[in-house]
Amino acid sequence: MHSPSIAILGGGITGLAAAWELKKALPDAAITLFEASGHFGGKIVTRTLEGCRVEGGPDSLLTEKPWAIDLCRELGLESELLPSNDAQRSFSILHRGRLHPFPAGCKLFIPQKITPILTTSLLSPAGKARMLMEPFMHHRMPEGDESLAEFTRRHFGQEALDRLAGPLLGGIYGGDPEDMSMAATFPRLRELERKHGSLVKGMAGMMRQANAKARQGKAPALFTSLRSGMQALPDALTDRLKPHLRPDTPVTELRKTETGWLVNGEAFDRVIAALPARAAARLIREVDPELEALLSRQSTSSSATLSLIFPKEQVNPLPTGFGFMAAHPLTSLLVGCTWTGNKFEGRDTPEHFVCRAFLGGPDAKDLIANGADEDLIAGALTALRHVCPFIPETPIAHWLQRWPNGNPGYALGHLDWLSDLHKKEAGHPGLHFIGSSYDGISVSDCVRQAKELAGKLRPS
Ligand SMILES: Cc1cc2nc3c(=O)[nH]c(=O)nc-3n(C[C@H](O)[C@H](O)[C@H](O)COP(=O)(O)OP(=O)(O)OC[C@H]3O[C@@H](n4cnc5c(N)ncnc54)[C@H](O)[C@@H]3O)c2cc1C
Repeated sequence: MHSPSIAILGGGITGLAAAWELKKALPDAAITLFEASGHFGGKIVTRTLEGCRVEGGPDSLLTEKPWAIDLCRELGLESELLPSNDAQRSFSILHRGRLHPFPAGCKLFIPQKITPILTTSLLSPAGKARMLMEPFMHHRMPEGDESLAEFTRRHFGQEALDRLAGPLLGGIYGGDPEDMSMAATFPRLRELERKHGSLVKGMAGMMRQANAKARQGKAPALFTSLRSGMQALPDALTDRLKPHLRPDTPVTELRKTETGWLVNGEAFDRVIAALPARAAARLIREVDPELEALLSRQSTSSSATLSLIFPKEQVNPLPTGFGFMAAHPLTSLLVGCTWTGNKFEGRDTPEHFVCRAFLGGPDAKDLIANGADEDLIAGALTALRHVCPFIPETPIAHWLQRWPNGNPGYALGHLDWLSDLHKKEAGHPGLHFIGSSYDGISVSDCVRQAKELAGKLRPS
């Protein structure tokens, strides 16, 4: 019997996980993974600065999404798993130049206690009243998709959107809440509304169950990272997949033949495009211009991370909590900052204070793509020191990592877009699209998509 040959395009976590899962599902398959750069892991990239591990892309996995953590265990990385330091789990919102503690007792941005809402400095009296009215109001759910902004406004009003949901949920996607698809990004909140009408009431039920588990000592940490850095996951996959990997090999040509596919002139039965949608669009142009147009329609936003190391003795007082996010509408390039050593133990040292600023927002695209390093770094540091005067003027080490067009936009109608894409995909047997552009942006969602595809291709 003919052993299938499979080309995987892209060596980010999606492509690597796909190669790993396909090796298990189709042991006879000839798998080749093409990666444009010399780096495997894509947006997962860890460096060591002054003895401190810092992340240029993702810094953690959301523990409740199990797929990436399961993969770590399967690869023997169990002892590497590092839970977030939830004793320090609080954060602030930057609003009008000041940091305000995020109201305690909220699950996501949904209040579960009245007093923290009544006493928060983040909301006006009218904003507080509007939030607390939610359980007593009738919420008319639209038939189709809805933006994060509209969803939040319907339940809790504009202030809750600008100062709670926008920074917290919009921040994850780096997108504009007015154009973020609720159906694609937070379907569980829509489900909560469908079942209970009020999010406050629905969340209260969920919290009762979660609290019962916590009392039995089963509540896991919110985030999980890896002791030697997130890069440990792609590194472990790279070690095991070596014979299949082609680094520094950009795919520049994809053609369809009568029996399969040509990738840079080499014949394969199947092609798995584990690339950002726009990179996939460029390759598919010759094969199917309509598919190219569809893939190109995905919007993107740009972001950058700036890791900063300071002498700990000069940071006075040392901040508490995980960090802060900026309220919407964003007024500067600084959209947030993590106090890295508070979030994960062992990320700083007794001598070094580590933090990571996030840069982005609607005006960031051009600056992140074309701005000079010095300008971005100086701009971010000035904005950070304005809010946090305890941050010294000059870091002893820094690392600016840019992600131009690096965040896929899960815009209104994303699920319709995805369904159109799957229909077009079905017209090209042997071609598959997976990764952060499609069905979930988190590292864990990327691993899940790889697993699901391998499951579909496994002989029955
Ligand atoms: C700043 C930032 C912070 C984040 N934080 C988190 C977090 O804390 N937790 C979390 O779960 N997620 C986080 N994410 C999201 C997550 O990191 C990404 O969604 C995920 O890593 C994307 O993986 P991927 O393999 O789909 O794509 P990518 O990582 O983009 O990989 C695609 C690969 O394809 C290669 N490629 C492109 N074109 C070609 C070509 N023509 N030929 C061959 N190869 C090509 C690229 O070089 C790249 O290696 C974050 C993202 C960013 C940008």
